[in-house]
Amino acid sequence: MAKVHVLYTGGTIGCVPDAQGALAPVPGPEFERLVLSMPGLSGHRVADHPGLTWTMGWLDRTLDSSAMTPADWIVIARRILDVYDEHDGFVVLHGTDSMAYTASALSFLLPGLSKPVILGGSQVPLTVALSDALPNLVGALALAGTLPVPEVCVFFDTRLLRGNRARKIDANRFAGFGSPNFPPLATVGSFVDRNSALWLPMPGEDSSLSVPANRAGRREELDAQAAALDGFSVPMLWLHPGIRASTVSAMLSGTVPAAKGLVLLAFGEGNGPTDPAFLAALAGADRSGVVVMDNTQVQAGAVLPGAYATGLGAVGAVGAYDMTPEASYAKLVCLLAAGLDPVAVKGLMATPIAGELTVIDA
Ligand code: ASP
Repeated sequence: MAKVHVLYTGGTIGCVPDAQGALAPVPGPEFERLVLSMPGLSGHRVADHPGLTWTMGWLDRTLDSSAMTPADWIVIARRILDVYDEHDGFVVLHGTDSMAYTASALSFLLPGLSKPVILGGSQVPLTVALSDALPNLVGALALAGTLPVPEVCVFFDTRLLRGNRARKIDANRFAGFGSPNFPPLATVGSFVDRNSALWLPMPGEDSSLSVPANRAGRREELDAQAAALDGFSVPMLWLHPGIRASTVSAMLSGTVPAAKGLVLLAFGEGNGPTDPAFLAALAGADRSGVVVMDNTQVQAGAVLPGAYATGLGAVGAVGAYDMTPEASYAKLVCLLAAGLDPVAVKGLMATPIAGELTVIDA
């Protein structure tokens, strides 16, 4: 028998139109009743998977994921730990808008994961007949209960993606998520095609969250990270031709609480403008202890620090290699919240810790 816990956080999958006709997520109990009325999911079972049962929990206030903050990531991580022992896998139902950020963050907040945590949602609500919600939900449940993949994943439209490699790539189509720099961990069709050679290894006893003492330690660290979140900011800045040095300076000096990190969405392989004032603003930030990430605004491919004279490594920015901007932001927030100093954060940002990047020797 496998038991899967579903944590419903909100998002389109659970939305109905409000008085103005705009979509808003229904509260948890209402959503659970709706799910139980769906073909194949009645009685807390999953059709075609005789040994699989599910339970459901929810956030007190269900959210459109555009309204989520890093504090919500920690609430979700804690909720998974609360029911970790009694379940074999977890489904986090989540809005698609910021799903890639939450999936990335959970991969950094739950090191030692020994069971699947699968984020899922839909582009069209479950109450609508022509919707991707039911196949996405049943797929996430079935995979969480049958696939021993010890990682945070996103399941969407037939593909199981590594969570910290996933990106929302389409605002409307059912194929809403992609993983431009990493192949799917599994693909669902008339059978499940597992790419298990790519899965992260099972954690050892020293770190596995299956060990109660490790879970207790993680809870304490999550509490400390939650308390630290109000003490710093991490803005993201999309570079563009003609960007002013004053924009960078205003962003860094005007952000409250003060920025301890900055994620740049740079050109191509991590390049930027050559305006000396712009470069001086970034170099100044680096000198003052702000960890500056050099990510690319291009959908796929990697930042290659030092490939071009315009590369931003020269001002102290950390090359993100092929890490997504969403993962870069989430990782930076989690490491800074853990209280690490800028030198340690810089080192870890350029090192894979949850399968989020590939180091490229250029
Ligand atoms: N705005 C919704 C959300 O992110 C979109 C969705 O779920 O597809 O919560």
